[in-house]
Amino acid sequence: MLKKILYTLWICIFAVLVVLGLKNGSFITFINSMEARTFDIRQKILVNSGERKHNKDIVIVAIDDASYEYILDKYGEWPLRRDVYAKIVDYIEAQSPKIIAFDLMFVKSMKSSSSQDEELVNVFKKYANVYTAMNIDDQPQDVRKSVALPDKLAINLENNSGRELVDYLEYSNCRVILQEILDATSNIGLINVSRSDDGVLRKMPLFLRYQGKYYPQLGLKVGLDYLGLSKENNYSVAKDGKVYLENGKRVFYADSDGGVILNWYGPAGTFENIPIYKLIKAANGEENLNYDFRNKVVYFGATAASLFDIKTVPVDKVYPGVEVQTTYVNNIIDDSFIHKCPEWVNIISGLLLAVLTVLCVVYISSLPVAAGSCVTIYALYIMFAYEMMAGLFGSYLWIKIVAPLFFAIFMFIAAVIVKYLIKSRDFDYQYKLATTDGLTELYNHRYFQEQMQQLTSHASRYNVPLSLIIIDIDYFKKFNDTYGHQSGDAVLRQVALELKKNVRASDIVCRYGGEEMSIILPNTGYEEAVAIANKLCKIISSKKCKLSNNRESNVTISLGVSSFGADGVEPAQVIEAADKRLYNAKENGRNRVN
Ligand code: GH3
Ligand code: MG
Ligand code: MG
Repeated sequence: MLKKILYTLWICIFAVLVVLGLKNGSFITFINSMEARTFDIRQKILVNSGERKHNKDIVIVAIDDASYEYILDKYGEWPLRRDVYAKIVDYIEAQSPKIIAFDLMFVKSMKSSSSQDEELVNVFKKYANVYTAMNIDDQPQDVRKSVALPDKLAINLENNSGRELVDYLEYSNCRVILQEILDATSNIGLINVSRSDDGVLRKMPLFLRYQGKYYPQLGLKVGLDYLGLSKENNYSVAKDGKVYLENGKRVFYADSDGGVILNWYGPAGTFENIPIYKLIKAANGEENLNYDFRNKVVYFGATAASLFDIKTVPVDKVYPGVEVQTTYVNNIIDDSFIHKCPEWVNIISGLLLAVLTVLCVVYISSLPVAAGSCVTIYALYIMFAYEMMAGLFGSYLWIKIVAPLFFAIFMFIAAVIVKYLIKSRDFDYQYKLATTDGLTELYNHRYFQEQMQQLTSHASRYNVPLSLIIIDIDYFKKFNDTYGHQSGDAVLRQVALELKKNVRASDIVCRYGGEEMSIILPNTGYEEAVAIANKLCKIISSKKCKLSNNRESNVTISLGVSSFGADGVEPAQVIEAADKRLYNAKENGRNRVN
């Protein structure tokens, strides 16, 4: 009973949660954020297991805390003078690097003198492998007017998806960088990032829309340049939402919002960091730097906490923006962005888990063993999901864990409840079959004997009264002979029903045998039992019984009454006494109590 209430409670609470959640959408948000957490955990385990190998060609020139102090001492307040950057670039270029990219924006600055700016601009004119960043945003127009960007920075995008690309993040304003740099080079890309609702950075856009044109990420340009695909400026969005580079050279599994999901290589500091002050010293000829930049992709960026370019990513709480950029470039080079499984795969997984769960509950009789088997199946599924993200099928797949498992666990609870209900109904049925008489639906003889045994010992232990009435239908043989056995059976049923109706619920009415019935009356003394017997005798004699052929007839009964204590303490003694009195009642003319 308690179990039943608990189960019902469970399912009610669950149903209320589901209904409430679905109503205001928070349930789905909750499931999605849990799923994102499992993504983070998978990524963390993957990078900790050392399965992810980052590209050693990518190196970061870090404006770290030490460099920040060095710059402050030597050149004054941040930002660093632009001629110093120019000098460093010259120093690195002497060693034939593959690419030099700035995850820094060279905006118009009061502090910067035009001669210093010019030295930097010359760097962009001199070297075709130097890249820099820009940023588009939604700053209000009264803060700054939005400017037009040169066409050479935009990409050609052919949309074959059959839908408006409204999801591709669109921005209304642009933080403009030095016009001279815009004129000097087309090696400029965006450094916008997109964060999830929980503030964690999992995705990066491939390109964004501004003034009706699409502009690519800096990392996209750098990565494709590394691969020798830098001239490819044509993109198309396919029917299924995948972004293709023209000629089918690369396919990016962009998510529905146009972002790609980053595949991480390790915590902060995974990519080699060279503090910029060491480069400044080397470029100034003050100190030797034993580092070979040949064929490297050199990324300039701030890692110092005071420069505020710090993100939270799945694999680390404090992660420099420039390492997000190098991760993105590395993903492009490796073609390793995470690809979300199509929704039908997640649904099939959920259904499969649910079916296995139900099979376990149905076919395994022990609940703990069934639960253990289900947990094993779920654990195997989680391992499978992990392996898929590790690249089991060639690409890095994100199959959902939370929704399928949630569904499976729900099915586990439902299956256990249904199994329990069926079992208890089955038990009730078996019990009824074993204790009742089929014809009269009274308790059978075996149950009568059991109850006599129990109730006599109860009466003796607690010193409470107990009485017994034995009933026999008068001249029933003759009745059968006259009206037939069918009518006899019908009368037996009606007498049984009448007896049950006219005694207390605590009284136990049994079919003693043949046309004899008995009533055990707990907590009832002899006098009271005799009164009840008289009442029953009268009721039966005045009742018209329906016969099988729709005729009616009267029957009478004779009753013998005995009591625990006065007539004995053993069940057999009490029964024998009642039997004897019944015989006397018959002798004395029937239709009476003795
Ligand atoms: P008495 O007044 O002395 O009790 O006379 P009686 O004819 O009832 O005698 P007795 O109690 O010995 O007869 C029992 C009869 O009850 C025998 C049998 O025909 C009938 N009987 C017993 N069980 C059933 C039953 O299940 N259905 C029907 N229709 N008759 C039954
Ligand atoms: Mg009899
Ligand atoms: Mg009889």
